[in-house]
Amino acid sequence: MTNFLPFTRPTIDETMIQEVTEVLRSGWITSGPQVQSLEAELAAYIGGERHVRTLTSATGALEVALRVAGIGPGDEVLVPAMTFSASANVVHRVGASVRFVDVGLRSRNTTAEAFGQAISPKTKALMPVHFAGLAVDMDPVNQLAQKHGLRVIEDAAHAIGTSYQGRRIGSFGDLVCFSFHPNKNMTTIEGGAIVYANPADTPRIEQERWHGITKDAHGQVDVVAPGGKYNLADVAASLGRGQLRRLDEFNTQRRELIDQYFHRLESRVPADWLPERGDVGHSWHIFAPLLPFDQLGYTRLEFISRMKNKNIGVGIHYPCVPSLSFYKNLGHDAALYPNAARIGEQTVTLPLFPLMSRSDVDRVCDELLELTQC
Ligand SMILES: *Cc1c(COP(=O)(O)O)cnc(C)c1O
Repeated sequence: MTNFLPFTRPTIDETMIQEVTEVLRSGWITSGPQVQSLEAELAAYIGGERHVRTLTSATGALEVALRVAGIGPGDEVLVPAMTFSASANVVHRVGASVRFVDVGLRSRNTTAEAFGQAISPKTKALMPVHFAGLAVDMDPVNQLAQKHGLRVIEDAAHAIGTSYQGRRIGSFGDLVCFSFHPNKNMTTIEGGAIVYANPADTPRIEQERWHGITKDAHGQVDVVAPGGKYNLADVAASLGRGQLRRLDEFNTQRRELIDQYFHRLESRVPADWLPERGDVGHSWHIFAPLLPFDQLGYTRLEFISRMKNKNIGVGIHYPCVPSLSFYKNLGHDAALYPNAARIGEQTVTLPLFPLMSRSDVDRVCDELLELTQC
């Protein structure tokens, strides 16, 4: 019997383990020199002379970004109906409210046009999500924001290493948040980063990240805001440095596995089952086709359990956010976002991670084609 193939798995090599061990033995394990180095290396990798601060998650980074942008009670943020719920939750955590916008069926991404139609007098910010690592068409989004005086908080949790028209996501724009959760394209176990243009935002971000503490030139400590506690540990940052060194290699492997998925599936399944192919800038965080379970005669949970019986892990990314209880109870209706609603019902995340082989992809495709009789 073949080994279980999970839908994702981080790549942690012996060098990374060695480096983490050295930090553990060093006598300093929380935020310190490793965090500073990781931030400098992320800034260099992303390019565009941007500022980077790491945090304990992308969720924390998005929340801090909203606070830095001055979003609060009475304000509204436009969020795609197809994303991880954290994108919308953070808006409520700062006391603002969410207005959802639909996404493209195959791109899973929002457009400036969709944002434009949803802008209301209360709208203060747009939150594009680079779904699965495919860049949102950002130039029109940033132009729209400029025209209406809105902030843009990019949820780039899927998009470390993604490029848009040859520019890395994070190297331009307003406030951009990355995730280093173990499922993402690089990991610090838990972790995230906020990338921004204006150095004047640094004190506020650092206060939000660490107790609102400031220190003057003489070393006098003060607390100037009710800050949070979102600082990354050096142990985690040290893993992140090893991951970042190999990120481009990981993303190349992801793209090669995707080539094989498309090679095997493109001529066999209906076009709208497959996500948009994108270009070389796509970092392929997940491979998540849509399956029409109403026509297939079994449920998604049955599909997942049949694949599990074949030793293949399948995930769901994601339910349509307005269909989730918290949002439904606020009066949101998933039916108003037909593409996001359909993706939420039909999406299945198939195995994709750098340690997989082409023959693993073949095995997944064989089972998928058999179960769907394509
Ligand atoms: C993973 C994810 C997040 C949250 O990232 P964490 O680092 O786990 O907080 C936010 N948005 C999207 C789209 C994600 O996939």
